[in-house]
Amino acid sequence: MDRILPTCDNKKHYYVDKRRRVRLLVRGRVQGVGFRPAVYRHMIRAGCGGHVRNTPEGVEIELEGDAKVVKHLVGHLSDILPPRSRCDEVGETELTPVGQERFIIAASRNPGNSLLPVPPDFSICPECSREIQERDGRRAGYAFNTCISCGPRFSIALDVPFDRERSAMESFPLCEECRSEFSDSADRRFHAQTMSCSKCGPELTFFKTGPGERSTGGDVCYGGQAISAAAGALKSGHTVAIKGVGGFNLACDASGDDVVSRIRKLKGRPHKPLAVMVGGISDVRRICQPNDSAEELLSSEKAPIVLFEKKDAACLSDSLAPGLNRLGVMLPYTPLHRLLMDHPETPQVLVMTSCNRSEEPIAIDSGDLVELSDLVDYVLDSNRPICNRCDDSVAGVVGGAPVVFRRSRGYVPEPIMLSDETPPALAVGAMWKNTFTLRSGRRAYMSQHIGDVSDADNADYFEDTYKKFARLLRIQPELVICDKHPDYPSTVFARRLADEMDLPLLRVQHHYAHILSCLAQHGVMGPVIGVGMDGTGYGDDGKIWGGEFFTADFSGYERRYHLKYTPMPGGERAVSEPFRMGLAYLADAFNEEGAVRFMERAGRDLPLRQVCALLAKEEFSPLTSSCGRLFDAVAALLGVRQRCSYEGQAACELEAIADRSLNGEYPYLLRGGQIDFQEAILRITEDVESGENISAISARFHNTVSSAIVDTCVRMREEGAPDTVVLSGGVMQNVYLTERCIAGLQNRCFKVLTHSEVPPNDAGISLGQAAAASGVEALLSSPHIS
Ligand code: ZN
Ligand code: ZN
Ligand code: FE
Repeated sequence: MDRILPTCDNKKHYYVDKRRRVRLLVRGRVQGVGFRPAVYRHMIRAGCGGHVRNTPEGVEIELEGDAKVVKHLVGHLSDILPPRSRCDEVGETELTPVGQERFIIAASRNPGNSLLPVPPDFSICPECSREIQERDGRRAGYAFNTCISCGPRFSIALDVPFDRERSAMESFPLCEECRSEFSDSADRRFHAQTMSCSKCGPELTFFKTGPGERSTGGDVCYGGQAISAAAGALKSGHTVAIKGVGGFNLACDASGDDVVSRIRKLKGRPHKPLAVMVGGISDVRRICQPNDSAEELLSSEKAPIVLFEKKDAACLSDSLAPGLNRLGVMLPYTPLHRLLMDHPETPQVLVMTSCNRSEEPIAIDSGDLVELSDLVDYVLDSNRPICNRCDDSVAGVVGGAPVVFRRSRGYVPEPIMLSDETPPALAVGAMWKNTFTLRSGRRAYMSQHIGDVSDADNADYFEDTYKKFARLLRIQPELVICDKHPDYPSTVFARRLADEMDLPLLRVQHHYAHILSCLAQHGVMGPVIGVGMDGTGYGDDGKIWGGEFFTADFSGYERRYHLKYTPMPGGERAVSEPFRMGLAYLADAFNEEGAVRFMERAGRDLPLRQVCALLAKEEFSPLTSSCGRLFDAVAALLGVRQRCSYEGQAACELEAIADRSLNGEYPYLLRGGQIDFQEAILRITEDVESGENISAISARFHNTVSSAIVDTCVRMREEGAPDTVVLSGGVMQNVYLTERCIAGLQNRCFKVLTHSEVPPNDAGISLGQAAAASGVEALLSSPHIS
């Protein structure tokens, strides 16, 4: 930061004709991250006059001084960027010098019209951590310590531009000492909008939940005592709801089987994995396999939940991630978490799950907790409100590179830069794991995780969040984009909004949206081979797609190959009951009688004959080309899972048992535009009957699917398709399969594009839909659009 610049203390040597004044307009992440203070400090040091201020278009810097100095400063603007800032564009205009010698931070121009987005929430920085861990000092033990480069932003933003008056910090006026730090250009909290101290900032409270309301009097404790009391409660096996950044987490001792199973029962979440929090990287390595990329992601300012390969750690309850080989881990990302994890009474590993019933929106104030009083024993609360609900993000490492699976806290509302400009648009996503995207110009802003919009509370949350987002970003959509599925609640909402506002409605095929989301993230226009391996999505022929090979670019797509259509007996029910797909695949390979006989080994309570009877009736057994359903079928055949309690459970458990050291494969057929796994299914049943190890069968099955994907891409290239392949869709969360596909395709000299900043699952659909607006002219005239 401290570059050597000619200093200009001796101003009498200046001649007017050597002076220069320029105006720079900087866009990017330049607000709420100490950008203006950094510019100010730098310009003072360089001896320039002028000002820096927020404007609706970006941060405006006018600087005036010696022409050489000005030239140097303009050329080296990136050197002065503070840690969390990012500069996307700089516009430059020459002005006539006016003889200004002082440099100032000027008041914002038209703050009401600001287009400057709010920054995402940042995890606590090392300096702020150090301050709260000190024995004394103004911020020792202070649970809301923040500075210019850390702390909450989006979750506490009420409006733009982001500053104290337009955030949840408005009700905490700075004390005298904080004010002097705020106005001291040498202080690291100079102009830090969210700063506070124990004198002037928010306060912690700890209390026991009572029936229907919070108890009062002697039971409430504050500040450091609240943290000690919470640590004690956790140690003695209780649950504590802890107010985090974007909502309450429910915490308990991760080694306690009783308390973990109680949480599972009351949350209505029998198997879905629970994330944990530990104090530091060394603790992560005690319970998980070391992984440099995953550790880097975990320690980043985004601080998501990161999936690690778990070790057999005796100190953890077996029911944290039953049947899975990975565990979601978090590090303390707020000062409160840091203080709690440092407390000697706190268990070393805490379950940290969202405080809600399964699939409902996360609780954000103690009022939301009233309904959860059976689940929550104690509450560690504060009086800093949460303005924008935002769940913890989830990320992992695939092929050595980070991939986000749930893009929420720490990521939102950072825009994804698209390659072209379109009119402002709203894309509403699909159904599960849903998000929406608001697009303006080249920027696409994906919302935080909203969840399953078929849940009534989530549907309200969706609408409410859309209104807040549109207001924060000042985006008025002129186009609404939705999935082709006519009955998704998101589609119904989009139709209503388009009607009410008299806007055009664009409907984009689900797997095309998956592929566009990946293209958009890479800034690639195509054409490409788009591989969409997914759960389910509405197809152009009215069938349920999900194992698709397209040639695609922004102007449209052509479906070249797909997995062979197989009936889904009972329709949607087959998604949560894999034995139904097992029967369907077996009935195709043998006959119905053979299918029932084989599946009888899986359990007596399965209604095998009734389900088989559905197979012949097309109205009860829609056809699907879904790859996710193929994984379900194999999981059922191997006896891994017959009924799921969360989306994708069977496939996740099938992946977890695969023996990755094996290279064997089963045969399959590529004919008539369809990929047929009938032969593989037959061979799998033979292996099961001969008592072959299911880890080996699972590995061979994974290897077969990966070869089928690679071979189909090779065939397409021979038929004239491009040599860039996009891998997208929910099945691409399968690390083993994805890594094998990447390696196989690269061996065949393909360029492979995979997801990183945008989820490969349905959480990324809204971005793909928004990206489709780029091809809207072409799309409107194509048969794919209605
Ligand atoms: Zn900090
Ligand atoms: Zn203060
Ligand atoms: Fe999908």
